[in-house]
Amino acid sequence: MNRTFSTDIVILGGGIAGLWLLNRLRQRGFDAVLLEKSTLGGGQTITSQGIIHGGLKYALNGVLSPASSAIAAMPEHWRLCLQGQGDVDLSGCRVLSPHYYMWSSGGYRSRLKTFLGSKALRGRIDALDERDYPDFFRSREISGSLYRLSDFVVDTPSLISLLAEPHRDRILRIDTESMQMAQEEDGRLDSLTLQSHSGTVCLKAQRFVLCAGEGNGPLLQQLGITQPEMQIRPLHMLAARVPHAQPAFVHCIGDSFGMTPRLTVTCHPDPTSDSSGWIWYIGGEIAESGMQRSPEAQQGEGQRQLSETFPWVDFSTTQWGSFVINRAEPRLPNLQRPDNAFVSAKQNLLITWPTKLTLTPDLSDSVCAELARQNVQPQAAPAANAEASATLSSCFDFPEVAKPRWEHLFAGA
Ligand SMILES: Cc1cc2nc3c(=O)[nH]c(=O)nc-3n(C[C@H](O)[C@H](O)[C@H](O)COP(=O)(O)OP(=O)(O)OC[C@H]3O[C@@H](n4cnc5c(N)ncnc54)[C@H](O)[C@@H]3O)c2cc1C
Repeated sequence: MNRTFSTDIVILGGGIAGLWLLNRLRQRGFDAVLLEKSTLGGGQTITSQGIIHGGLKYALNGVLSPASSAIAAMPEHWRLCLQGQGDVDLSGCRVLSPHYYMWSSGGYRSRLKTFLGSKALRGRIDALDERDYPDFFRSREISGSLYRLSDFVVDTPSLISLLAEPHRDRILRIDTESMQMAQEEDGRLDSLTLQSHSGTVCLKAQRFVLCAGEGNGPLLQQLGITQPEMQIRPLHMLAARVPHAQPAFVHCIGDSFGMTPRLTVTCHPDPTSDSSGWIWYIGGEIAESGMQRSPEAQQGEGQRQLSETFPWVDFSTTQWGSFVINRAEPRLPNLQRPDNAFVSAKQNLLITWPTKLTLTPDLSDSVCAELARQNVQPQAAPAANAEASATLSSCFDFPEVAKPRWEHLFAGA
């Protein structure tokens, strides 16, 4: 059977960007449908470290631009959502750590201290007295200084489930191999034709929003759109099952006074019930330079650097794993890194990359502002919406929520 449905907005991609936007649009009375080709969050979102940050990295580079002031507002925005008082209700989302720390261990200490005490950073970072150290550092004789940032860490699987669950009838798993995109002569996207359990479904919409992360590249190519362009930055991330009771949430900044911390450590629940430890997940400079290393060499480097940095943790029985994942972003001139959520309008298409989990609320704000600027209003009648939801969800499966990569890395180990 062939059917045609008209909706206000079709979102392609069920990572954090698409899911947050679906919530915002439906709250505003738009009829919206989200299409996901695989698992929810299964791209970058599930592999993110979950740090909701205020952009201190920009400050470390000595640059506090207006864009970095925008990111500075994000931790507070998310906190309101977690308390159920923000633009999206995240009450019930698991927070892995209410704080994130930065440890400067050495050489540049005095220069750093002056800088971190500067007016530009006031309210975003506190130098800690030993008695305020988190458990992981308490009673340890550490060199250098420990700072508490305005940042915190969320559990991404719980975040994805929470955003998806209320919209099960509007989130469809699709087969992108057989998806056809029909364009009008002027290049406008007219409709998407999808294969469902019960025949072909043609979806028409006022606007189509690309939130497909790395998948935006091939979609733009298929549509013959050359600008904006996508860039990818590969990272060789480390995961380690560490039998140590206290979790670590810390940027370790080395002697280079640069953008990227030497090690960025977060800790996540270990899915094996008999374990008293955590899964340590490690990014930072080691993940960037790790692209030059084989998995064995990267895991060896991880063991070496972590043992040296945290001598009070016994890594001798640690199980190591690593994998490569791409960050997908718009390509900017001079290969700069974007420091804001990105939204670009092309006819009836909106092309988006949040560039950071943290900036997702900013992305949704920009999309809503662009829809208002284009005078796009909710059009579908509520009764028709309910009927369409029932029919659509009977034609397609609801995609599963992705599992953290270490569940695959350490499966059966
Ligand atoms: C290792 C790593 C660590 C990170 N840590 C942090 C952090 O601590 N803090 C932070 O703020 N940011 C972090 N980030 C960045 C953050 O994870 C990303 O900016 C964010 O998750 C991107 O979300 P997204 O929804 O745009 O893309 P994704 O999460 O990649 O989702 C895209 C979705 O689209 C689907 N898709 C692809 N093609 C199609 C198609 N044709 N049709 C339908 N669906 C499609 C994919 O299956 C996927 O589910 C990190 C990124 C990485 C890689």
